[in-house]
Amino acid sequence: MSQDHIRLHIPGPVEVSPATYEAMAAPMIGHRSKDFQNLYAEMQPKLQELFGTKQPVFLSTSSAWGVMEGALRNLASKKVLCCCSGAFSDKWVDVARRCGKDAEALQYEWGAPVNPADIEEKLATGEFDVVTFIHNETSTGVMNPLEGVAAAVRKFDGVMLVVDTVSSFSVVPTPTDELGVDVMLTGSQKALALPPGLALFSVSEAAMAKAETIKDRGYYFDFLEFASNQEKDMTPSTPCIATIYGLRHQLNTIFAEGIENRQARHERFNQTVHEWVRKNGFEFFAPEGFRSKSLTCVANNRGIDTDRLVKLMREDHRIALDGGYGKIKGKTFRISNMGDETDETIANLLGALDDSLAKL
Ligand SMILES: *Cc1c(COP(=O)(O)O)cnc(C)c1O
Repeated sequence: MSQDHIRLHIPGPVEVSPATYEAMAAPMIGHRSKDFQNLYAEMQPKLQELFGTKQPVFLSTSSAWGVMEGALRNLASKKVLCCCSGAFSDKWVDVARRCGKDAEALQYEWGAPVNPADIEEKLATGEFDVVTFIHNETSTGVMNPLEGVAAAVRKFDGVMLVVDTVSSFSVVPTPTDELGVDVMLTGSQKALALPPGLALFSVSEAAMAKAETIKDRGYYFDFLEFASNQEKDMTPSTPCIATIYGLRHQLNTIFAEGIENRQARHERFNQTVHEWVRKNGFEFFAPEGFRSKSLTCVANNRGIDTDRLVKLMREDHRIALDGGYGKIKGKTFRISNMGDETDETIANLLGALDDSLAKL
């Protein structure tokens, strides 16, 4: 890495390791070649284990939003219920409407978690056939109750549950089949610590059957296209093969570390950041029991100049920090601990924060 390299501690994209970049620099191959089929097939068992699914895991050359929009186009024929509690989840209702879908927001204040009982009440009306749910609201640092929400939706036959685990995938368990999640989706640039450009998702049998009945699924995100290409260990169109080389490398890294060890490491670093927050007299934007394990959204109760904090971190320590997202910019700042962080990089981050705070 060059001297000018700014180390990313924003909650996505996160820092990509030199070893990953090196793996990505392998010679290009044809996406209809045996080499690609081998690459694709080699990763499937690991991806299925990470997803907790017996279904195939599809690779979409798009950011996560591609699949978030695609899921609605493949599955919604009645009304979409969007659980909204932050920037990403709020946007999903707008995306649904732009796709011509009838969508309703189940709106919570930013910082509050989604309540499964509210979802149950809404679904009891029989109006809805899709629920969108963001597990880890990256904008507010709230980890929503995935198990409770999945249990609530499972009570209603024919309602499809679409879950975004973009910033929680591989950080905490997200057992797709056990929870009965219909579309589980994530992206490359958060805890998987890859460059952006790749989304990964799985589709339940019920959701695949539903998609067959839906008109106007389009082409690029058509679940049926992904399924028929999967049979040949291929993707519908030319994928971002370099990032997929990176994915193969990261899967090997994750399985060498062990999934549980990886999760424990995230938990430990998250606790270390929490200790720093408390020690410095800050509060948490998310309530106890609903705090993300991949990042910390710090409430700026001390009223510090967050723009200046971000500037000092960048200029004096070559670290990118986030000064709050959307309407909570300045009222919060966010510290990411996801990906390939080590004791050393977390200690370095907190040392830099101490130094920058002292200069404010
Ligand atoms: C980052 C993020 C997204 C957006 O992902 P893109 O790759 O920009 O499409 C969606 N949901 C959550 C929870 C995120 O953190």
